[in-house]
Amino acid sequence: MNFYALINRENKYSFSPLMAASKGRIKPLGGERPKAGDAVLLSFMSPDWKRAWRELKELPRGTIKVAGGAHPSGLPLHALDMGFDYAFCGEGEEQIVSLLDFLEGKAEPPPCLWSRDFKGSPCRGVEIEKFPPFEEHLPIPIEITRGCPFLCSYCQTPRLFGRRMRHRSAENIAFWVGKLVARGIRDIRFITPNGLGYGGRGGAQPEKVLALLRLLKERYPEARLYFGSFPSEFRPEHITLPLLKALRPLLANRRIIFGAQSGSPEVLRALRRGHSVEDVIRATENSIKASFRPEVDFIFGLPFDDENQNLRLMKKLAEMGARIHAHYFLPLPSTHLALYRPRPLSSAFLGEVERLTGSGQLFGRWKRQRELSEELYRLNLSYSASHIGKNDERYEEENNCGTPAS
Ligand code: SF4
Repeated sequence: MNFYALINRENKYSFSPLMAASKGRIKPLGGERPKAGDAVLLSFMSPDWKRAWRELKELPRGTIKVAGGAHPSGLPLHALDMGFDYAFCGEGEEQIVSLLDFLEGKAEPPPCLWSRDFKGSPCRGVEIEKFPPFEEHLPIPIEITRGCPFLCSYCQTPRLFGRRMRHRSAENIAFWVGKLVARGIRDIRFITPNGLGYGGRGGAQPEKVLALLRLLKERYPEARLYFGSFPSEFRPEHITLPLLKALRPLLANRRIIFGAQSGSPEVLRALRRGHSVEDVIRATENSIKASFRPEVDFIFGLPFDDENQNLRLMKKLAEMGARIHAHYFLPLPSTHLALYRPRPLSSAFLGEVERLTGSGQLFGRWKRQRELSEELYRLNLSYSASHIGKNDERYEEENNCGTPAS
């Protein structure tokens, strides 16, 4: 039996560590055509579910189809309804070998597997240090931290990975940076939901962050380190001027990315962002003083949005020298806002957004996301009775959630 991964640009960050954890048993589905009895694994996020569906329909009859990733983890029943035989939920590294053994008829199903005959519960809590961050032939940024103690109501990260931050040690990261550098890869990027929280439980950890980056620079002076840009963004309240000044000579990036999401204190509270509007303004100011270009994320169309306050803050930040990275609210399965309807934008707001876009102060794929938003909301509604919303209590119990602490 062959195991194939259907890899694309959107899912390679998921597949690369899984292929490594499978110890070579999963191969990329390149030019090969799977035959009946082979298993094909697809990993996808909610905005991509239709593409996954099209890909699924092109697979030959008799192949075993397994869904994984953010969307099937949030809505396993939908994955089964799409035509998958199984949905593999949550973090994969510890269970991937059991999954392959099960598909070969040699073992019981792993506990995170769903099918028409049985239900699983998402696997979490993988100690990422025990597993390679990428498969040799599919290098990706090194995941240095998994899990996020904040519980922003629109975000799938803590639902998928739990709220306990798990970090690779600095030595382990240096080892994998060495592997990339040895292959001639000089641009080194990292995956973390909270760059300046590296090594802690949620709060800023300036000493640990600086110690890590200094170690990497010392061992690999030729490496160009990208940290604070995608996919290792910062939280605004962690961005201080002394820290940015200390980071500047260590980093290759001149952009710093952090989230505002809204210009309204009430909306930030409702979103459970855990920072204030003032934190965002201060982070912008500090970034510019330290000669970084800030890119600040906003989400349009939130169900309890305040357009005027958003506009006021976006204009202020843009005047200060920031670029606004605009997104549109996507009600993602298993999040607190999964069953909230996206709010349409007023023509006055749209006019101002066009003006900011025209002057180069705002960018982003928010229009495409707006097209998907209502569709996702309807999809969540149709599965609400069976799944959505039931996870949160379990997550919070499992992860012994408390206030994020340093
Ligand atoms: S801080 Fe970032 S990763 Fe964590 S829940 Fe909020 S948006 Fe998600």
